Amino acid sequence: MNKMKDTDEIEKMREILRAAGLRSTPARISVLITLRKASKPQTHAELSDKLVPIGFDKATVFRNLSDLTDAELISRTELGDHVWRFEIRDPSHDRSSHPHFVCVECGTVACMNGIELPDEKMKKSLNISRISEILVKGHCMTCEPVPR
Ligand SMILES: [Zn+2]
Ligand SMILES: [Zn+2]
Repeated sequence: MNKMKDTDEIEKMREILRAAGLRSTPARISVLITLRKASKPQTHAELSDKLVPIGFDKATVFRNLSDLTDAELISRTELGDHVWRFEIRDPSHDRSSHPHFVCVECGTVACMNGIELPDEKMKKSLNISRISEILVKGHCMTCEPVPR
């Protein structure tokens, strides 16, 4: 695997922030890098656990999560447990193109490809103008092993 050097990554984050019209601050860059490295959506508490030890306080983390959400660089989802989780928004990854499975316990998200979505005719009959996201909730194998 081709691992990107940290300085390249910081420069890339700067570009992303600039393109979104945000000032690049160390906190914003750190939040973005942490979310990019994360394998699943992160809560404010989980991000604070990673960012407080390197010098950002919880309020700073929270404020920057809001700024980045407003700028649509990250997305905020609530999986039914009243806790916001944040993840990098990938413009090339259209969340309406296939359903996503999300584990309500750990927040693991998996793309469910190969599932047929409602066609135009069905959407019309259901009075749906546009589908923004299809979320399938459940428990992952790690959180709830299948009994054998
Ligand atoms: Zn899980
Ligand atoms: Zn997906």
